[in-house]
This record gives sequence, C-alpha cells and structure tokens, in this order.
Amino acid sequence: MIESRPAIASTQEVVDELRRRSAFVMVSHVKPDGDTLGAGLALGIALKRLGKRVHYFQQDPVPRNLRFLPDAEFVARELPDDLPPDTLYVFCDMSDWSRAGEYLPRVSRENMLDIDHHLGNSLFGKLNYVLETECSTGTTVMHLLRGLGAEIDRDIATCILTTIMTDTGGFMHSNTTPEVLELSAELMRIGADKELITEEIFANKRVAAIRLLGCIISEMRFAFDGRYCYSYVDDAMLRETGADGEDTEDIVNTLRGMEGVEVSALFKAFDGEIRVSLRSTGRVNVQAAAARLGGGGHFRASGLTFHGPLEDAFVAVEKALVAEGL
Ligand code: 5GP
Ligand code: MN
Repeated sequence: MIESRPAIASTQEVVDELRRRSAFVMVSHVKPDGDTLGAGLALGIALKRLGKRVHYFQQDPVPRNLRFLPDAEFVARELPDDLPPDTLYVFCDMSDWSRAGEYLPRVSRENMLDIDHHLGNSLFGKLNYVLETECSTGTTVMHLLRGLGAEIDRDIATCILTTIMTDTGGFMHSNTTPEVLELSAELMRIGADKELITEEIFANKRVAAIRLLGCIISEMRFAFDGRYCYSYVDDAMLRETGADGEDTEDIVNTLRGMEGVEVSALFKAFDGEIRVSLRSTGRVNVQAAAARLGGGGHFRASGLTFHGPLEDAFVAVEKALVAEGL
C-alpha cells in the first residue's frame, strides 16, 4: 500500500519541519502584495531569531508602498549559491508554486512548504499548510509562530497586521471576523503601527495613479443591467499619465465599489500580456470564473492571465462570469 499523507498538514507537523531545517528561502508571488510579502517576512524574522539562516526570494521588486516592512531591504531576485541541499523553500500566499515566477531555481517537492489561505490551492508542497478559513496568509503564519513559541515583537506584529489589512481591504471585506479584529488589537498593543500601514497601503496615492484612474474610468463599460463593470489599462495610458503597473492595483476595487455593480474586471494590457483582476460583491464566485481561464484566487477576488487580443479577453471573461451566474 502506498502511504498517503494527509492533504493539509497539522500545525505541529509544520513546526517540527521548521525546527528540523537550518536554512530557509521565503518565497513570495509575482506582483507581490502585503500578504505574500508580510507573511514571508514575519516567519523569516521569527526563524532568524531562532538562529536559522533565512533568505527572501521575490521575482519582482518590493512595491513602493511595502518598502516600510521590516526586512524588506533583504528581499531579492538572486539567491546565494551556497545554500545547503535541505534548504526549505516556504511559498507564501500562492495557490501554485508557479506563481513565484520563472526566476526561482528548480526546487524539489521535498523542499517545498506551501502556506496559503486560497481556495483551490494545488497542494504542491511536501507539507501544505492551507487554511481556507484564515483571512490572510499572515494569520495562517501566526499559528506557526505560536506553535514555535516565537516572541511576537513589534516587527513581526507590523508584518502580520499588514497582511490582515491588505487582505481584508482595511477591515472592510467579509473575512473581517471578530477573531481577526481581536488579533489585530493584540498586534497593535505589541506596537504594530496601524496608521503607518494605512497611510502606506491605502492612502499616499501618486498623482499619476489618480490620473490613470481617470483614464480607466472614462473607458469603463457596463453590462447586465449595470451588474458588471469592466475597463482596461494599456501601455498608452501608462505613458500618457506617467503611471506604472503598481498604480493599477487598487482600481478594480473602485469599479466594484459603484452602486449596483456585482462584479468588476480590470484588464491590464501592458508589458506584453493581459492580466485580469476580478472582484465580486459575493454573489458570483470570481475564483471559479478565473479558474475556467487558468487563474484563481478567492470567491470575491481573483485574477488570471489571458493570452490573445484584448477584445477576445473581454468576451472570454464575460463568458466565464456568465457560467458562474452573472
Ligand atoms: P489581483 O487582482 O489583486 O491581482 O488578485 C486577486 C487575487 O487573485 C489574489 O488573491 C491573487 O493571489 C489571485 N490571483 C491573481 N492572479 C492569479 C493567477 O494568475 N492565478 C491564480 N491562481 N491566482 C491569481
Ligand atoms: Mn492572501
């Protein structure tokens, strides 16, 4: 008989694995957000305090609004070549290892730990610590920190609170449970700076980003009696406004935030590809819609990459949304 490992690892199993290993690479996903990065930094900082060797891999540079995070200055695309063979690669906040990008060297499954809270995680690691009920990968990491008996200091608290505020949309999404608010209070008491996180992540918009918002809003289209709103951003708009990819991140939420809109989509057609962001009020499952086109994410927030012309992307996404009940 083939021995089968339970699909989701227990906290104790993961803690034992972390204790066994001496070197770690914390891996965040392409187009990083405050959850993938904050979760990796929190665990990385705790492991360093336990005397472990820790590196942070991220294909893309740290976004401007996340540079305040402790240890963010150590995040790199290159890894040293003297890593021991049993280095554990800890993938944070990604439903599949491929979301780390093509720059990550090949890692054997034996050396992969998958920490996530997405629906439909492909369970790609040796151990998969995937807690779908957690609001963020950071709060998932919190269970491991407690299991390790790690001291939650101000730096770690700042990282974890950032993951929470990112993935709850500043305590607004439906994943903001009483437990999330209690944990956030605890993190604030330890010294996590909520004002700073708010300013960095939700305010502080560049003028170019607001100009870009104007372009995108002037191109928006509605369908299904105003229940679906979508728009796009292309290279020309970025050139015209002086904005860049980072400035596009929040705009799909603005489209979703309009009266009567149940689903919004932003088609990001620049740098030679089309990345689509989807948001839902909660009736239509946009994770399932994205999965129909090879993407993924959460019930109310998902994304995918489309290969083909923009007009075809509009049609394909609309079809996938209709199939999910739009
Ligand atoms: P965003 O629209 O902010 O880029 O992504 C929203 C959510 O969808 C995030 O949780 C993100 O991880 C997920 N997501 C975005 N793009 C992809 C994709 O190409 N594949 C998968 N599996 N998930 C994605
Ligand atoms: Mn997340």
